[in-house]
Amino acid sequence: MPFAKFLVCLCIFGCPIAFSLSLAPAGSSAPQSPPRDRTVPPQKKRTVIAASTLLDGKGRVLRNTRIVIEGSKIVAIDPKVGPVDYDLRGLTVLPGWIDAHVHITWSFGKDGKNAGPAGTTQEAAYESAANAWVTLMAGFTTVQSVGSPTDIPLREAILKGTLPGPRILTAIEPLIGQGEKSGTPGEIRAFIRKQKEAGADLIKIFASQSIRLGGAMTLSQEQLNAACDEARKQGLRTLVHAYKDAVRAASIARCTEIEHGTMATDDDLKLLAEKGTYLDPQAGLVIENYLLNKEKFLGTPGYTEEGFAAMERVLSLNHALVQRALKIPGLKIVFGTDALAGSHGRNAEEFIDRVRDGGMDPMTAMVSANSLGAEAMGMTDQIGSIAPGLEADIIGLDGDPLKDITAVRRVAFVMKGGIVYKNTSTK
Ligand SMILES: [Zn+2]
Repeated sequence: MPFAKFLVCLCIFGCPIAFSLSLAPAGSSAPQSPPRDRTVPPQKKRTVIAASTLLDGKGRVLRNTRIVIEGSKIVAIDPKVGPVDYDLRGLTVLPGWIDAHVHITWSFGKDGKNAGPAGTTQEAAYESAANAWVTLMAGFTTVQSVGSPTDIPLREAILKGTLPGPRILTAIEPLIGQGEKSGTPGEIRAFIRKQKEAGADLIKIFASQSIRLGGAMTLSQEQLNAACDEARKQGLRTLVHAYKDAVRAASIARCTEIEHGTMATDDDLKLLAEKGTYLDPQAGLVIENYLLNKEKFLGTPGYTEEGFAAMERVLSLNHALVQRALKIPGLKIVFGTDALAGSHGRNAEEFIDRVRDGGMDPMTAMVSANSLGAEAMGMTDQIGSIAPGLEADIIGLDGDPLKDITAVRRVAFVMKGGIVYKNTSTK
């Protein structure tokens, strides 16, 4: 079946400071304990965190309490327990963020130009590891990469504890809509099963061409129905890159989540709410990153002067999309950045864009990357909240994002699965 062998970047929507983070651990920012090999039963070491302000990930604020962690999990929230191992009073403590849409292996190549997933060279592998590190240091403890076959060794290394990084879910190879050439419904079903066999955690589908090219539908309703139905049968979720008419079509096909969604009508958005289809719009970071790094993208596959000319127009459409989506009762808006070369580690800028330009309430923005993000992944029993029984993915911000959303840039503490990877708090 003639699926494209190369993933041309179809993502429409992304900075210059991402790689200024030093990889060298310094002082208290060094990991507090060595990465754990998950083949060894985790020690039931008990850790207690004190917090003066705790966002529980579901929209509640708790004051002056303590979180008790044993091994990789939270076991209690109890203000009376002690002794305290990490005194995070003065920070805002919340669950590690979840980014529903990244391209964790995409980097700039040796020539400084966008290399996309860049294959399997040593340079590309180190870039991928660096992307994972800066993403974790930025407070993102789970990301969904959508996707590349090179995600797999990175996912596995992080899972084993041999590399530090966020928990990675990957789509491996996406289904790229190209009209009839995408295949018959039967062939599309076979492609979905192939991804499952290769170890995919979810399926990514491109149902629209790039918005830089107009955003027309590239899969028929019948093809989309086949893709999302087969994925559901295989127990996999479907993320659909969709603009305009493809948004409605993907919701009708009972796909799980719409990526981007630019130029969806209010009626389309109401349909998503009615059918429970998640929406992952991008308010700013991805386009801002493209504009900031224009020379590094221009001339690489999919990036033309005309495309760049369209971006500023699309940016205002995307602000409008978030504003409109927030007015649709019951519409579930999750957090995803489309992080790619240049924006890894700056994922949290998207929170600022959503709040400042999209009109989103800061608590809604936090929940979209916590419990709602976990719900969209079917992982509420593991991540997205600070509650007994869940993984101890806990971050601390220097500032209160509910009062000043730019506090999301100041991540002072990162724990993932009970291991502290960053602690620059002063206490
Ligand atoms: Zn993307």
